[in-house]
Amino acid sequence: MRGHGRFFGIPTETDARPIGKHTIRRVISTFAPYRRRVGLVGLAIVVTSGLGVVNPLLIKAVFDNALFGSPPGVCAGGGPCPDLGLLYRYVALMVAIPIVTGVIGIGQTYLANNVGLSVMQDLRNRLYEHLQYMPLRFFTTTRTGEIQSRLANDVGGVQTVVTDTTSNILANVVVIASTLIAMTVLSWQLTVLSLALMPLFLWLTVKVGRARREVATNTQKTLADLTAVTEETLSVSGILLSKSFGRQRHEIDRFRGENTRLTGLQIRQTMIGRSFFAVVGTFFSITPALVYLVAGWVLSNGSDALTAGDIVAFTTLQSRLFFPIGSMLQVSTEIHSSLALFDRIFEYLDLKQEIADAPDAVRIPPTEVRGSVAFRNVWFRYDTPPEERPTPVSPTDLATANGVPRDWTLEGISLEIEPGQLAALVGPSGAGKTTITYLVPRLYDVQRGNVEIDGLDVRKLALESLGDSIGVVTQETYLFHTTIRRNLLYGKPTASLEELEAAALAANIHERIAELPEGYDTIVGERGYKLSGGEKQRLAIARVILKDPRILILDEATSSLDTRSERLVQAALEPLMTGRTTIAIAHRLSTILSADVIFVVERGKIVERGTHDELLERGGLYARLYDQQFRGGLVQAECEDGVVLSTGEVVRTGSG
Ligand code: ATP
Repeated sequence: MRGHGRFFGIPTETDARPIGKHTIRRVISTFAPYRRRVGLVGLAIVVTSGLGVVNPLLIKAVFDNALFGSPPGVCAGGGPCPDLGLLYRYVALMVAIPIVTGVIGIGQTYLANNVGLSVMQDLRNRLYEHLQYMPLRFFTTTRTGEIQSRLANDVGGVQTVVTDTTSNILANVVVIASTLIAMTVLSWQLTVLSLALMPLFLWLTVKVGRARREVATNTQKTLADLTAVTEETLSVSGILLSKSFGRQRHEIDRFRGENTRLTGLQIRQTMIGRSFFAVVGTFFSITPALVYLVAGWVLSNGSDALTAGDIVAFTTLQSRLFFPIGSMLQVSTEIHSSLALFDRIFEYLDLKQEIADAPDAVRIPPTEVRGSVAFRNVWFRYDTPPEERPTPVSPTDLATANGVPRDWTLEGISLEIEPGQLAALVGPSGAGKTTITYLVPRLYDVQRGNVEIDGLDVRKLALESLGDSIGVVTQETYLFHTTIRRNLLYGKPTASLEELEAAALAANIHERIAELPEGYDTIVGERGYKLSGGEKQRLAIARVILKDPRILILDEATSSLDTRSERLVQAALEPLMTGRTTIAIAHRLSTILSADVIFVVERGKIVERGTHDELLERGGLYARLYDQQFRGGLVQAECEDGVVLSTGEVVRTGSG
């Protein structure tokens, strides 16, 4: 999608949305269901991080009070005499605190991960559900790999944010604050000295942050590109294409290119972080030496403001600051890249479900649908969502003349099909036949006019009712990578074994299934590649027979099946069509001959309508199409204005 402007409001590389307060609010709202757990994690972090500061203070107490508290010469050896009672208590505390901290830490990690993974699970579910209801238009304009990348990589990336970044921020804030307080209490002068270089760090952080942010965004995009390339080229259709064109080398090079880019970016990302830590680390390794030096100066001036315990405790506290400060300095980058991930997910969640149930949508049980279909002055085009479309001034303003690109794919289509009728759509390739069939199940919505089922605008019908009353058999049969049984049950999940077999029998596929070693439990490969074209079609027909919809949309296959296979498919179609309203994109002679009404479509308009005999008699486009094909015996013929016809199968069947 790079460089192609906006599709569905999805930004391209040059069009990244700024991340604002809105995103932050939404991120917080994703945690709302886990409030209590988040609260517990927070409490645990405050307790454990706060307890961390106690140990250095205990060190000071051990040195100054327990070990060297008494004046020299008190003990037998002449040195200071340790206060053993006090020492035991301090030591007990020094042992107990890390144990308590460790135990709380385990609970905290469990809860934080639990929250993180639950938020991820929710996001994945919401995203998948949202995508399921996105209109076909979205999928025809978005790469599958891109969608998969958002579901897998982006949602996956969010988890680290939730479990690590957020917990780290809180822990670091508590550690830094408590440590700084303790340091100031010990010696504010030394604290100031330790913090003197902070402005330099801040400057460095801003610079490093910017660089990392840029690299992180690019990494995520390259990852999406790589997933898309993989998806496109390693799918069955993709690999078939690259093998048949001998383009494997080209695909390998393309993959290598993206992969090299990704590695380069990842190395940069890691290195930027590492160099930054190296600088911070060096500073923190050097500062104790500076502290000793300054302490020496202070003591040499005869001051008693510092004890040995103070200095040891101070440097211990100071070393505790290294990791929290280092990671806090990078936090803005981390937050930003995490918010960027959230934003990519929200972007998809915000995509408008252009085709959705109207608030007053009507539900009709499938058995109560009579099955009349009507198009009333329907205008349709693919390129823009309906709300962005200007209303055409008048049909005559539109460039519809021969040879001029059409503004509209369908122009003022009006037709009526009675319940139980067979309507055949016939016309040159690209005329708009498939598009007409898309409008009935609302795969797209019309821009003007309306499509009606039983006199009711399809936009007023609940999508579920619509889906239940329409069955579609397309040229390309899609089967899931699972058993034949499960593929069939997709048509009717509650079907009994008898129903399943009856449907398979009616679709002329039962015998073939029975021949397979595992019968109905045979697994068909991805998209059913283990079955022949004809077998797949018959399986698809059986699936729709099971569904038993009132309205059938049939896109007859143009792919050449052998005569036997062709007959089997045709025989399977007959029981499927009987008793239902059928709209068939007709490629077979038998279909147009038995059609109650034939609509001849040319350049988005219905130019003729009637029965086969009536249309032949009229001697128009239909007669020409029929005549040319029949006479020429061609699989694909050309009509007078040079458009390739897609009714070639009519001839094959007719002449064969
Ligand atoms: P065929 O018999 O070859 O399948 P058809 O009569 O079914 O042709 P349609 O598939 O309805 O024709 O296409 C009508 C026009 O709409 C064609 O010019 C086609 O290029 C265009 N078209 C089809 N699908 C889309 C789409 N998703 N986006 C944009 N234009 C499309």
